[in-house]
Amino acid sequence: MLKGKTALVTGSTSGIGLAVATALAREGAGVMLNGFGDAAAIEELRAGLEAATGSRVRHHAADVAVAAEVAALVRATEESFGAVDILVNNAGIQFLSAVDEFPEERWKAIQDVVLNAGFHAIKAALPGMKRRGWGRIINVSSAHGLVASPFKSAYVAAKHGVVGLTRSVALEVAEAGITCNAICPGYVRTPLVEGQIDGLAQLHGLSREKTVRDVILSTQPTRRFVEVEEIAALAVYLCGEMARSITGAALSIDGGWTAR
Ligand code: NAD
Repeated sequence: MLKGKTALVTGSTSGIGLAVATALAREGAGVMLNGFGDAAAIEELRAGLEAATGSRVRHHAADVAVAAEVAALVRATEESFGAVDILVNNAGIQFLSAVDEFPEERWKAIQDVVLNAGFHAIKAALPGMKRRGWGRIINVSSAHGLVASPFKSAYVAAKHGVVGLTRSVALEVAEAGITCNAICPGYVRTPLVEGQIDGLAQLHGLSREKTVRDVILSTQPTRRFVEVEEIAALAVYLCGEMARSITGAALSIDGGWTAR
């Protein structure tokens, strides 16, 4: 379905981004991976994905918190593959703290990775998409782009910003053959969530097990984590021709969390 297209997926050495990159490569898209990790492990991942899918897969280690590196990442993808047809702004980080104790450098880091990186990537990739008259921009926001939780002020603010950015971009490019949507997952069991369990347990004074059941999954009426493959399938759908009228949407995939 996506043969001849190129996808750039930020933060795709792990979790949701890796699942999205894998699904897009399976559909025939060339894929530029991005994200941190051990160099040898990333090379193994890249080569394995290429062998399993038959699609061309490269990796670029840009730190998306740095504007110039985001621009270089888009440029490198265009130079290596000829285009960025599909841009998935997925890289994300989290930090939990009461707002009046929130470390300023953590606040800034979250805005840079979660919100500003998407702006810089869209800015760099849009001219090429406009020239070709086709593009798909998918911003991985969160249920926290639509509703809030305590102790996550930086993340909630940035993810709400991602939804606003998505809507504005969608309106600007609506007649250019380009769609821009936000995916808003509930809790997906990835390293990012694993890393929050201990902090939340401490803040709420609960065991790890009770934290998962009564704090994390208490927001999710289905009482189960969303799987990364479910997010990836939605991303693939959004890249298809039958999704060409879906734009400016904030699509919840959250087990009913935001239906409350
Ligand atoms: P993860 O920690 O498994 O993966 C994050 C990826 O981002 C990794 O590849 C990491 O190397 C990369 N990354 C982090 N900082 C980076 C930087 N400065 N530059 C380049 N790459 C960077 O996390 P995940 O759970 O897969 O999260 C992916 C996205 O989904 C994030 O935007 C997150 O906010 C969002 N999300 C996650 C959940 C969840 O429950 N896991 C829910 C809603 C939204």
